[in-house]
Amino acid sequence: MVIEKNKAVFVHYTLTEGTADGQLVETTENREPLAFIYGIGMMIPDFEKNLTGLKSGDQFAFGIEAANAYGTYDEGALVEVPKSIFEVEGKVEEGLLEIGNVLPLQDNEGNHMQGMVAAVSDSTVKIDFNHPMAGVDLFFTGHVANVRDAEQAELDHGHIHGDGGHHH
Ligand SMILES: [Zn+2]
Repeated sequence: MVIEKNKAVFVHYTLTEGTADGQLVETTENREPLAFIYGIGMMIPDFEKNLTGLKSGDQFAFGIEAANAYGTYDEGALVEVPKSIFEVEGKVEEGLLEIGNVLPLQDNEGNHMQGMVAAVSDSTVKIDFNHPMAGVDLFFTGHVANVRDAEQAELDHGHIHGDGGHHH
């Protein structure tokens, strides 16, 4: 059985930055494989494209440019805000505004978003709303652990059930 639309796909992969020798981002080695339904928009389109037609046991190695993954880095998504918005009763919680911290925030319309603390001055904070992987070219190596037909309930829910998937 090969990977195509509406198949339940299980892959072990290692994601590195740029090339196979690049910095490790994440890996499924020593844990459950990534499980997803192919062709329903769960995954990065280029990720699926590169797996098309593979079967259980097949190996893969491919790169995806940042623009086709999590997007290019947008300077406009680096926003300076007054430090006072983080104050509660006139004080900023200790440790809250450390560089690299990811904070749950809200925009003026009440939309929830996550931003990373990029810089802190006496009165302002620079928050980076770019995806943490923005501007990073991805490289995937791995193999296909299993391919099977997705069950109707899985297609209805948009996710895999059982091993490597949702238990409910
Ligand atoms: Zn479900």
